[in-house]
Amino acid sequence: MKITNKHGAPEPLFALASRDYYSKGKATYSVTEIISPPRVQRLREEHNEAIEQDVSDMLWSMMGSALHVVAERSQVDGHISEERLFLDIDGVRLSGAIDLQRVEGDLVDIVDYKFTSAWSLRADKEDWHQQQNCYAYLVHRVKGMKVRSIKICALIRDWSRREAAIKPSYPQSPIQMVHIPIWEMDVTEKFIRDRIEAHRQAKVLHDWGDELPLCTDSDRWVRGDKWAVMKDGRKTAVRVFDTEEEAKALAETDPKFNVVERKGEPVRCTGNYCGVAAWCSQFKKEQENASAD
Ligand code: SF4
Repeated sequence: MKITNKHGAPEPLFALASRDYYSKGKATYSVTEIISPPRVQRLREEHNEAIEQDVSDMLWSMMGSALHVVAERSQVDGHISEERLFLDIDGVRLSGAIDLQRVEGDLVDIVDYKFTSAWSLRADKEDWHQQQNCYAYLVHRVKGMKVRSIKICALIRDWSRREAAIKPSYPQSPIQMVHIPIWEMDVTEKFIRDRIEAHRQAKVLHDWGDELPLCTDSDRWVRGDKWAVMKDGRKTAVRVFDTEEEAKALAETDPKFNVVERKGEPVRCTGNYCGVAAWCSQFKKEQENASAD
């Protein structure tokens, strides 16, 4: 991957961004890789040399790396920081790095640090559940210990004291502990095996020059169509609905209200959050279809 410095960040910061902190050790796949869409992984591998990322877009991933370095230095009894576990399964070696394990006898509490926004904390994040349950499985299989709890230590980067004071539903502090339900071990094992197989098949297809498996709506972070009820003289919506009927019903209660349709979109593709939108035939085809409509 090529790192650029379009906004003139200081050289040491640029050098820091250019260092590759990510390592899966001597493993075929990391947990992070198997939970990501096979299409994204294969395209990233193929176009790694051509992918560009600016240092200004890497602030939070660098902060994440910095946090891991700091966490490693903090040794507290009964806690294990930054442990990478390896497991041979279905002919591949899977690895996962666990941020923090609190050990009590043969019980383990897993904690993972995540920088996130206050807005995204409101939604249930499926990938957090998948990733953390894979870690719980690794602890169980590799260390023979039982995982008692899984928590995300969410560090809210845009936390606002003012919002917290006026909205009881808003996170009341910039650090929130989020509980993740623990899956049955056989459910997690099946999930891991299915994901490894999906990636293995994608690799074979790609090597043969065949079409990669398509990303699902959930992979592409598809936001469905919404209908906003707007009021004359006001810039923000009074309310946003999932259906046009609900929006129209509210709009009929006030002559100053009107309904505006907000078209849904695959946010990960349109914002190139996967990093490979430029080489993706699925996204290209979708864009062509949209412009033909
Ligand atoms: S552009 Fe969209 S469909 Fe293509 S790889 Fe990225 S997320 Fe998947």
